[in-house]
Amino acid sequence: MITDERHRILRVNNAFTRVTGYNSEEVVGQTPAVLQSGKHQEAFYLDMAKSLKDHNYWQGEIWNKRKSGELYPQYLTITAVQSEAGGITNYVGAFTDITQRKKDEADIHKLAFYDALTGLPNRRSLQERLDSALHSARITKQLGAVLFIDLDNFKNLNDTKGHDLGDQLLVEVAKRLSRCVRNADMVARLGGDEFIIILENLGVDETALISQVKQIVSKVISSLHGEFVLEGGVHHSSCSVGVALFNADDSTDEVMKRSDMAMYQAKESGKDTYKFFDPDAEKTLCTLTELEADLRKALPQKQLTLYFQAQYHGNTLIGAEVLLRWVHPQRGVVSPAEFIPLAESTGLIVPIGDWVLRRACLQLQLWQDDVATKHLSLAVNVSARQFCQENFVEEMQSCIDMYGVDPNLLKLELTESLVLIDIEDTIEKMQRLRDLGIRFALDDFGTGYSSLLHLKRLPLDQIKIDHSFIRDIATDPDDAEIVQTIIAMGQNLRLNVIAEGVEYEEQVDFLNQRKCDSFQGYLFGRPEPIEQFAENHCTYILNQKSIA
Ligand code: C2E
Ligand code: CA
Ligand code: CA
Repeated sequence: MITDERHRILRVNNAFTRVTGYNSEEVVGQTPAVLQSGKHQEAFYLDMAKSLKDHNYWQGEIWNKRKSGELYPQYLTITAVQSEAGGITNYVGAFTDITQRKKDEADIHKLAFYDALTGLPNRRSLQERLDSALHSARITKQLGAVLFIDLDNFKNLNDTKGHDLGDQLLVEVAKRLSRCVRNADMVARLGGDEFIIILENLGVDETALISQVKQIVSKVISSLHGEFVLEGGVHHSSCSVGVALFNADDSTDEVMKRSDMAMYQAKESGKDTYKFFDPDAEKTLCTLTELEADLRKALPQKQLTLYFQAQYHGNTLIGAEVLLRWVHPQRGVVSPAEFIPLAESTGLIVPIGDWVLRRACLQLQLWQDDVATKHLSLAVNVSARQFCQENFVEEMQSCIDMYGVDPNLLKLELTESLVLIDIEDTIEKMQRLRDLGIRFALDDFGTGYSSLLHLKRLPLDQIKIDHSFIRDIATDPDDAEIVQTIIAMGQNLRLNVIAEGVEYEEQVDFLNQRKCDSFQGYLFGRPEPIEQFAENHCTYILNQKSIA
């Protein structure tokens, strides 16, 4: 575009027409003001005029308006043309439409700062946001909180149903999380199935802050607890949340680490729950990586062992549940509640579970040689990861063949959450195992989402009422009602019902009145090594035998 010294347009070329939409006749005689977008303040144009006056030159980005009304960014260079006498005769404007470049820049920015799958801010934006949140906390003295959210059993979905479904779930989770918070709060995806929420400016009163944060966390948990309708069907999910409060004195790394640790504690205490960061628990958690390294050695170094907990029908011993123990060289006996989740997440559960099954079969083989014990059954806990192994059925078959045991005496305990990962697949696999003669119990019954419909379809032999209901049957009418209903339901479906965690006579009385079939719990016997188990439970039988 060429103008005269008073900025009146003299000539424009074809490229001008292409970009602006104006042809030569429409603009010649006008000033470039016809192109103005209205996006710039007067100062911007004054600056431009000053630069032209002082240096005969201006260049920069400017928003202009096309004939169609559309605003667009251009990169513009204006050069003043001087006559020999020194006066300005013309201005020449050359510009490029930089819409695409701007868009690319925005895309790059988006890629760098946002997660492509969910559209949430990514780890990098999170870091920046938390830095600035802590910075402003130093000025305002207001408190804030970081919520570390990790989906429970996400790996299962991904491993068994494929990444497409996993992705669908993550997208939906991102949406639900965003609905739980105020606009000013940040929801970010850290990676995988980990999300972060930053809550800022929550006031200066810590007690008020805690109750406010608890409300939000409960909202988060309940929004992710329950059904997700995905392409492949309905998926049940839940999450564990770690909460770290922050104030002016904290560093970004420290706050993130604390929320992460608190999340681990939430997982360890059974998932689908939240925990606030607890400095006392820090010590134990720092060693989680150590624990993992140690766990890898547990099997080859023969540190694993099995305990047996008696199961009774009336006064008769009917068998035992096999409970894994890890005898750690420094820590002593480590509870499976502590290391099974770790074994699950690292995949170590597969060889470990395999070992448990083989040992259980070996024990059945030993019992088989004795009339006093040959009828006893063993219940073995099976993890999701283990059950989902492609060759699980074949493994079981080879195990049974190798020890020559009666498969009827082997009972696999599956949890509701395992069963629900892929119900069709589970039923099919259970059926194949059942054809081998193996039996099934549904563990921790009542804590999950199983409906009557599921119960009817699964080839089960037994349901195991979760100990949390048994604990308070004598005092809590709700629990009493639930237990009574479960027993009645089991009877209707012709399933054996066993109560776990039975500790008091009152519980036995209650359960007997409702005709619960079997019992397991400290009242009948603690989990114990096989020698003690034999001594505590089998001598009676042995005596009987010797009398006979
Ligand atoms: P679970 O299958 O629900 O096992 C019952 C747990 O309740 C056991 O804890 C047992 O010691 C405990 N318990 C039994 N009777 C009572 C009682 O009267 N009162 C109370 N308060 N507790 C009682 P444990 O042995 O620590 O096992 C914890 C969990 O670890 C088990 O829960 C099971 O899910 C898992 N687990 C144990 N062994 C294995 C295994 O070989 N493979 C897999 N995959 N998981 C295992
Ligand atoms: Ca069990
Ligand atoms: Ca149980």
